[in-house]
Amino acid sequence: MSSIPEVKIGLEIHVQLTSLKTKLFCPTPSNYRGEEPNTYVCPVCLGLPGTLPVVNKKAIEYAIALALALNCEINDKLVFVRKHYFYPDLPKNYQISQYDGPGFSSIARNGYVKIFVDGKSKIVRIRRINIEEDPGKIHYIGSIETSPYSLVDYNRSGIALLEIVTEPDIESPKEARAFLDKLIAILEYLGITDTSREGAFRVDANISVAGGSRVEIKNIGSIKEVEKALTYEIIRQKNIVGKGGEVKRETRHWDSSKGVTVPLRSKEFEEDYRYFPDPDLPPMIITKTFIESVAKSLPELPDSRIERFIKQYELDEYRATVLVLIKWLADFFEECAKLYNNYKKLADLLITDFLRWVKEFNLSPRELKVQSIHIVKLLQYLDKGVISIKMLKESLPRIVKEGIDIDKLVAEGYTKLDDEIVIEKIVREVMAENPKAVKDALENPKAVNYLVGMVMKKTRGRADPNKTVEIIKRLLDEIRKKS
Ligand SMILES: [Zn+2]
Repeated sequence: MSSIPEVKIGLEIHVQLTSLKTKLFCPTPSNYRGEEPNTYVCPVCLGLPGTLPVVNKKAIEYAIALALALNCEINDKLVFVRKHYFYPDLPKNYQISQYDGPGFSSIARNGYVKIFVDGKSKIVRIRRINIEEDPGKIHYIGSIETSPYSLVDYNRSGIALLEIVTEPDIESPKEARAFLDKLIAILEYLGITDTSREGAFRVDANISVAGGSRVEIKNIGSIKEVEKALTYEIIRQKNIVGKGGEVKRETRHWDSSKGVTVPLRSKEFEEDYRYFPDPDLPPMIITKTFIESVAKSLPELPDSRIERFIKQYELDEYRATVLVLIKWLADFFEECAKLYNNYKKLADLLITDFLRWVKEFNLSPRELKVQSIHIVKLLQYLDKGVISIKMLKESLPRIVKEGIDIDKLVAEGYTKLDDEIVIEKIVREVMAENPKAVKDALENPKAVNYLVGMVMKKTRGRADPNKTVEIIKRLLDEIRKKS
């Protein structure tokens, strides 16, 4: 029997539909970010008495697009409910949402997402997708615990959200990350949201260890933080279980500055919300024709693109997945692949060093000056032996950052050094400067590597390594013959 406690993670993700021009139930523009507080409001999203909500049809279309992309069953009846709770950011004292229970239904259910972790594919089931409105935003002075007062801004109130809930199929922080990466990629391919915008993508995580109580961690802002919060929470719960204690069912808050989760409140139960159908929004019928028209307008999605990359470019699932999940990188790969057909080599360069430098320089895809031809030429020069792999790696940062042409670098003398007379001259210098290393090399063949390293250092990696070794061995033989 294994004594390792079983970890179960379920995620609840709130995604703002940032591509919508207006809020979910009123004509107020949705591009409120960076604006003065309480200026992007109207009587509807302020919850004033006597106002009536009108559904934004485009939001329904986006929800159906996501439901199809996540392989969900779509309900033919769209029912909105009131979820009651009192909070300053919710002026109506209820949130218009959806509820998956007797007499109600979410817009979509029973889907799945395929993820790829540690060389294996795995399915994470989607329990449901709900359409709902975002509440306003409360501003605290300093931290939530010590703020002397709080301010409320209703600009966000009524923004369209999709809530995506998974089954607890995720078994590690790494799998959670793979799932969220995939979900973000799907959202990006669909073009319904820009998840890089502040607050557009929020995650709640439910986690239990060894069949114990579920703990919910609320409102984690990024994938990296989700991974950290889950890692912390697994250790915390395992420690409690290990000492014979019991994990309390509660809601916790992830304090990213301290790297810990702290108790927020005891978990409220679904029945506390007193859901009932919103009388202002009678059920709407979603027709098959409408669903079919949305299905027809879907772009190529990550799963089919991964499959195509495997077939068309003969990549393995790992490389294809890494490329496709970063849409702009996959687009860039395809541009390069028109001009260069060692696809595996191209993919490797893009998903390792190239991507690393893009991140290092903090470049957004739109800012990239590097063109496909720059990368293709670099690989072609490497294939022809004009440059060494070390030089490729050295020149890459400039090419990525400045979009500089490798021809320019080659013209500046940035080529591989394979002129034997020149190499021999440098080898002789190195040997003269390192008499002890020469003595070692005469006795121990392995010590030759040190001299090779010194030559490489002197030539900034440009010396042809094979020729360098040959020349060193020849010169050492000459010394042996003389003595
Ligand atoms: Zn409004």
